[in-house]
This record gives sequence, C-alpha cells and structure tokens, in this order.
Amino acid sequence: MSNEWNLAPAAESTSSAEIKERYELFINGEWQAPSDGNYFETISPASEESLAQVAAAGQKDVDRAFEAANAAFKPWSALPAAERGKYIYRIARMIQERSRELAVVESLDGGKPIRESRDIDVPLAAAHFFYYAGWADKLEYAFPQRDPKPLGVAAQIIPWNFPLLMAAWKIAPALACGNTVVLKPAETTPLTALKLAEIIKDAGLPPGVVNIITGAGETGAMMTAHKIPKKLAFTGSTDVGKMIYKAALQGNKKVTLELGGKAANIIFDDAPIEAAVEGIINGIYFNQGHVCCAGSRLFVQESVYDQVLMKLKRRMDQLVVGDPLDKNTDIGAINSKSQLQTIEEYLEVGRAEGSEIYQPECELPEIGYWCRPTLFTNVAQSNRIAQEEIFGPVLAIQTFRTIEEVIDKANNTPYGLSAGVWTDKGSKIFQLTKAMKAGVVWANTFNKFDPTSPFGGYKESGFGREGGIHGLSAYLDF
Ligand code: NAP
Ligand code: MG
Repeated sequence: MSNEWNLAPAAESTSSAEIKERYELFINGEWQAPSDGNYFETISPASEESLAQVAAAGQKDVDRAFEAANAAFKPWSALPAAERGKYIYRIARMIQERSRELAVVESLDGGKPIRESRDIDVPLAAAHFFYYAGWADKLEYAFPQRDPKPLGVAAQIIPWNFPLLMAAWKIAPALACGNTVVLKPAETTPLTALKLAEIIKDAGLPPGVVNIITGAGETGAMMTAHKIPKKLAFTGSTDVGKMIYKAALQGNKKVTLELGGKAANIIFDDAPIEAAVEGIINGIYFNQGHVCCAGSRLFVQESVYDQVLMKLKRRMDQLVVGDPLDKNTDIGAINSKSQLQTIEEYLEVGRAEGSEIYQPECELPEIGYWCRPTLFTNVAQSNRIAQEEIFGPVLAIQTFRTIEEVIDKANNTPYGLSAGVWTDKGSKIFQLTKAMKAGVVWANTFNKFDPTSPFGGYKESGFGREGGIHGLSAYLDF
C-alpha cells in the first residue's frame, strides 16, 4: 500500500539560509585560512549538490587552535562565574533568534527532515546553552565542599547525526565550568557548527575560548594526540572511540566517550498498542535511524506479535520519504553515500541470514541517497542484524514470552546505551529498568531528550555522562 494521503509539497523556504561559498577555520575569534591551503566540499545528501568549500585543518592549524584555547583559558576561567553565564545565555538566545536559518542549514547539509531540525535539534541546542548557563555560577552548589575547578582546554570531536545539537552538548557544559575548547564537527556536516562559530563571534565571546576547526578523521587524530588538551570528549563510533581512549591514556588526559548502540524496544502484551507502534516508528525511523540510541531491536511479546506487526506495517506504509526540506517528510536523505552503502550491505546480510524483509513501496527520488524504512522478521539473536549497529532505518524484530527471557535477550549485546519498555504495569517497568544494562531506559515513550537529564552508556557504548549535573562533572577537577 502506498501513501494514501498524496500530500501536496510543503517546502520550507531556503531564503533564510545564507551559506558562504567558502568557510575558513574559526581560531582565536577570527576566520583563518588553513595553512596548507586545503579545502573539502560539503554536499547536500538529498541533491548531491555542493553547498560550500570548507577548510581542512592540518597540524599547524590544530596547533594554532590549541594555543589560542590555552591562552584564553586563564582569563576565561578567572572571570566571575556569573559573567561566563551571561555569555552562554547570549549564545542560547542567538541560537533561538537564528533558529529558522540553523534548521534549514542542518537539513540541507545532513539530510534530516526540516520538521526534526526545526522542532528538535535547534530548540534542544538552545536549551542546552540555557541550562548550562544557569549552572555557571552555581558549581559549588552542584558539588558542595568539593571545590570544583575547570580542567583547562578540551578537545571535542562530534559526529554527523545531530551536528548542532552535539556541538551544544559539548560546548555548553565545558564553558559553564570555565574551560576553553577546540571542537571539530564531522566532515559531512560542518555547516551548523560554523554557523555556531558566527554566533559565538557575534556574542562577543573572548577570542580563543571556543575554536571550531573542520577536517576529516586525520584532523581529529591530530587533536587527540595533541599535548595541550587536558580532556578529550568524543561522540562517534565505537571503533574510533577505542583509538581515542588509547590516546587519552597515553597523554594522561580525562576522557568521555559517547559511542554506538543497539537498543532494545520492548513491547509487553498489556501495552497501549497504538501508542507503542508510534513509539517503535519514532524509535527507529527518527533521523533516518542515524541515532546512537535508536530502538533498532524490537522485542514483542508473542501474544500480541501479529497485531503489532500488522499495525506497524500499516504505519510504515504512511511514512513520507523524500525532500528533507518538505514539512511533510518523515524520513529524509541518508547522510552520505558511504553510510548508504553500509546500510545496503546490512540489508543484504539480513537477507542472507534468512530473515524476512519488509519495506513499503514508496517511490524514492532519483538523485540523492535514500533508504526505505525497513523491518526484518524471523531474526535470530545471533544474527548480525540483531547484534551490530546499522545506523539506518532498519528494524530487527524478535519475540519473547516472559520478562526474564526478554531481559536476557535485551542485555545480550556488546552495547548498553538505551532501551525502551511499553507496558501498563509500573512493576514491570521497575523490574526491567533495574535489570537493563543501559544508560537510559524510556518507559512508554522513546527518544525523549532533555538537557537536565544525563545521557551515556555502558560497555561498548562508552562511559561518562553528558547532560544534567553529571555533564558538569565531566569538565571539572575536584
Ligand atoms: P565516527 O566515524 O567515529 O566519527 C566521529 C567523529 O570522529 C567525526 O568528527 C570524525 O571525523 C572523527 N574521527 C574519525 N576518525 C578519527 C580519528 N582517528 N581520531 C579522531 N577523530 C576521528 O562516527 P560517525 O560515523 O560520524 O558517527 C556515527 C557513530 O556515532 C555511531 O556509532 C553512533 O552510535 C555514534 N553516536 C553516539 C552518540 C552517543 O551519544 N552515544 C551520539 C551520536 C552518535 P570525520 O567525520 O571527518 O571522519
Ligand atoms: Mg553535507
């Protein structure tokens, strides 16, 4: 069944989104050309068109950025904390003022639906700055009698799935605690971090407090090997996370790692089924499934399996896949060609393992990177599609009979970032949340984020927490 609604196009205007032809590096409060003269292209994954040339930072640039952050540390950390808070509030307000532009640029550069960038990414990014601005002058209350002090310079490296939001998660608590930072966005999605640099400059933040440098993985590796930063903060894949952990040990640096996930979303037979189906859809198809905490493993209690599957397929048939800038779009473009290849390889793996695939018959645009929402049934616990993070709109469904069985199955993964449970019974929720090895467990909801709430993983999902008071302690020395 194809989409019955035949919605008319409702394109967001791109007139608010001024994108320069070329972006330099934001170092010491100025736009500086890369010393090797190298630039790379960032494209729109929906149109495959080039959006801008972006500077590739080499060793000299990385040195300059850390030296600027180091020089800025003393005066910044010595400012009265309330003054630091004022700057952070200002950044939050300016994100709100430029929210439409930021949402459009986020959707253009990364392919996510405008509804998500407009209603989730950008407001949450502002909320993180507001929240941590409030903590800047209250650190002694957050950590009474522990004499909290900033660490120094932080090196921060972020992925492409929530570019502006991840920058906010990293920068806001670091500044509130009196640190200075050098941040690198991912290669495919640098534009909103560069827009954030414009905001930081307009906010009058002292030069060097925030430096934003662009480049590929090599630039990231130069950052983690650098001797100046006292702290490495990384969000990304588990493989790169392991390298960063080694670099932190060798350099005797503090480190937080927010890595991959393979979350279980668990539906009991007493759950509100319609709401649970919405939760399953939101859990796995939000942001094309490019979500570390995505509910990519669905466990359904046997007695409601047929009902849930039928309703889930019917709901999938209604999802609108296509232009990220159309306000009706539910599933936008896959972030990059290489990520699309990875997802397509997993679709083959799933078939070869003997699982049954379901995809709605929706049409896909001819240009750009697209993947239909997908589910697999007849999945065994040991199958690769049930064990490995796909990072795309692909759901693996299994069934269970008892709570003990589902706890065993849900915990049987190298990851431990998040989980969801759907049931009418509070006692089941408590039993499950206690037994689940997951940093976040949502009950009768999924993918809910809030700056006041800590987020982070167990096992191969990393360690350390971002958000809430916990997120402050990652940037403090006691
Ligand atoms: P990635 O390949 O690990 O890249 C993350 C960042 O690290 C990018 O900026 C990347 O630069 C950089 N990088 C690559 N190689 C590096 C190296 N050797 N040294 C230092 N930095 C290096 O991950 P991704 O594919 O962008 O992101 C997807 C992953 O992030 C998924 O596994 C997802 O689960 C995870 N994630 C976790 C959370 C969480 O909070 N736990 C949140 C979001 C995403 P380039 O992009 O230029 O290569
Ligand atoms: Mg791009």
